[in-house]
Amino acid sequence: MEDERFVASGFQTEDSAVEQTLRPRTLKEYVGQQSVKDSLNIYIQAALSRHDSLDHMLLYGPPGLGKTTLACIVASEMGQSIRVTSGPAIERPGDLASILSNLNSGDVLFIDEIHRLSRQVEEVLYPAMEDYAIDIMIGKGPTARSIRVDLPRFTLVGATTRAGQLSAPLRDRFGMLFRLEMYSPEDLCKIVQRSAGILGVDADPDGLLEIARRSRGTPRIANRMLKRVRDYAQVRAGGHISREIAREALSLLEVDELGLDRVDRNVLNCMMDKFGGGPVGLDTLAATTGEDAVTIEDVYEPYLMQLGFLQRTPRGRVCTPLAWAHMKKQMPAGAAEEQVRMDI
Ligand code: ADP
Repeated sequence: MEDERFVASGFQTEDSAVEQTLRPRTLKEYVGQQSVKDSLNIYIQAALSRHDSLDHMLLYGPPGLGKTTLACIVASEMGQSIRVTSGPAIERPGDLASILSNLNSGDVLFIDEIHRLSRQVEEVLYPAMEDYAIDIMIGKGPTARSIRVDLPRFTLVGATTRAGQLSAPLRDRFGMLFRLEMYSPEDLCKIVQRSAGILGVDADPDGLLEIARRSRGTPRIANRMLKRVRDYAQVRAGGHISREIAREALSLLEVDELGLDRVDRNVLNCMMDKFGGGPVGLDTLAATTGEDAVTIEDVYEPYLMQLGFLQRTPRGRVCTPLAWAHMKKQMPAGAAEEQVRMDI
């Protein structure tokens, strides 16, 4: 299961307290995502100088890349408060109406997993986003009528791992769309360096780089690995993280030098051993590996694709020659021909 994986990029309970302390508070402290930061800087300055609220924005990308962090930074850079909720937590239209009518002027409303809002709840959002108003039904049956209630100007920040699942009317109402990219090992190294400083961890730059390299382009995983390696170093090396200690600790956690763990290797092995490297459909892959199809699509695949190990084709998922080489397996001649035919 995704939640039990050490390298899972989703939020885990143990992260909560530490994530709060490690979360950057300003755009300056927020590492990487340069083009998103550049754009935000301009829009924030423009809105501040007009004394206006910021346009609604949608942040999308795999879990753990810093969407919630960015939403909090936007609110603090605008000098406003943030209200945090999530798609699944807003069950009925009335729940959203009550959240919206309790906002103060300029507030940021952050809705995580916004693709999971029901259609009825979404419909409350449309006039709220466009006209800063909600329509409330009074009474029942033939005497029912709707009255329009004005809302303060607010900024909606939506976050999603699956922009494709957002309905077109909702997506169109966001003035800004930002895609967060996976981080380079250099950027992740800056992130763990900063976290090591905050947590008071004694580490060599090489040790931190080793953690950064194995954290799948994801800050949340990098911070989590730092904590586990720190524990290992405390017991085995008097608390000092060297490159060797980082390697030992991460091998103990079965995370290889590229950040792949047991489950990633299971997915690749399964594709190679049972399906000759693919093409194999997502549902078949899920059934044969015992993993959830949504988790494969949201968590494993983005990183395997980023590494160039996996390709999505109209006929299914295919392992690339790079993946065969990493798994130290001989690519069957038939698989290579098939890939040439599919123009991989
Ligand atoms: P998401 O909302 O995309 O799942 P979060 O915003 O909760 O991810 O980020 C997870 C953790 O990763 C945060 O607590 C923060 O410490 C760290 N983090 C994320 N992005 C950055 C960044 N750009 N710079 C520094 N730390 C980051």
